[in-house]
Amino acid sequence: PYDVLVVGGGPAGASAAIYAARKGIRTGIVAERFGGQVLDTVGIENFISVKYTEGPKLAASLEEHVNEYGIDVMTLQRAKRLDKKEFVEIELESGAVLKSKAVIISTGARWRNVGVPGESEFRNKGVTYCPHCDGPLFTGKHVAVIGGGNSGIEAAIDLAGIVKHVTVLEFMPELKADSVLLKRLYSLPNVTVIKNAQTKEITGTDKVDGITYVDRETGEDHHIELQGVFVQIGLVPNTDWLGDTVERNRMGEIVVNSHGATNVPGVFAAGDCINSPYKQIIISMGSGANAALGAFDYLIRNT
Ligand code: FAD
Repeated sequence: PYDVLVVGGGPAGASAAIYAARKGIRTGIVAERFGGQVLDTVGIENFISVKYTEGPKLAASLEEHVNEYGIDVMTLQRAKRLDKKEFVEIELESGAVLKSKAVIISTGARWRNVGVPGESEFRNKGVTYCPHCDGPLFTGKHVAVIGGGNSGIEAAIDLAGIVKHVTVLEFMPELKADSVLLKRLYSLPNVTVIKNAQTKEITGTDKVDGITYVDRETGEDHHIELQGVFVQIGLVPNTDWLGDTVERNRMGEIVVNSHGATNVPGVFAAGDCINSPYKQIIISMGSGANAALGAFDYLIRNT
């Protein structure tokens, strides 16, 4: 068996594997796509100490760093089940079963898409999912936020301080965000809220130039000219494969303690798949390091 097996090869998994391997213990990493969400990112400006980098370049550096340590890297493999027996067992979709004394789950998350024409076409060309990452790219411009829940309204408040104007599009007749956020939102001069709005299309040629929505009350189409669309309708953790072995919260995020430990002894978790409030590369890496040290601590006490 492995001493530590990391499931997921994004920033959290890479960091966890390196921290584990540096303890001189047998470490493996199994991942569907090495690099994770970072592979889908164009410009990265908030990875501290690196002024600017691009996703594929950062993903390649992660892989290169992991390869320095004799870690068993198994890519193009999906985990489909976790079992706790004498060891923690990870069953892959290929049917193979990997055993380890400790496992670190870092299977990340994915943004929920609105699924309208233009969304994938203009991804990174005006369509974005992360105000912390991309807000400053829209300084002085008009943007829309799709989604009136807490994350949408937080994004709108955040963006209103950077961009010229923010239009919030909410599908339902009311915004679902907390009242303290709504109070703040409605105090801002450069925010418009449109409720009962069903996004129909994100328009553009080489980049976004507008958004079309249907007013669900009247059935009429409306078009707004703008340069950016922030989709804020939820971040879904990739934790379904865990069945009911590992405790999760209402959102499906794995519940961990301060050492990154889950409710299952020997099973740790890190990155965007856990119940931490902010999902960023630098935070995932810290979380991966934390879980690896937690796992090492577990190993020296329990095995
Ligand atoms: P992920 O990156 O999601 O990696 C998950 C890993 O698990 C992948 O290797 C995946 O293949 C694997 N996996 C999933 N399920 C399974 C399974 N069942 N079996 C095996 N492997 C599995 N953050 C920033 O800090 N700055 C930015 O500028 C920025 N821009 C972003 C732009 C975009 C378009 C997106 C989508 C995200 C952006 N983020 C940015 C967020 C950042 O990418 C994430 O916070 C970070 O990648 C999370 O790391 P992670 O390792 O937890 O998960």
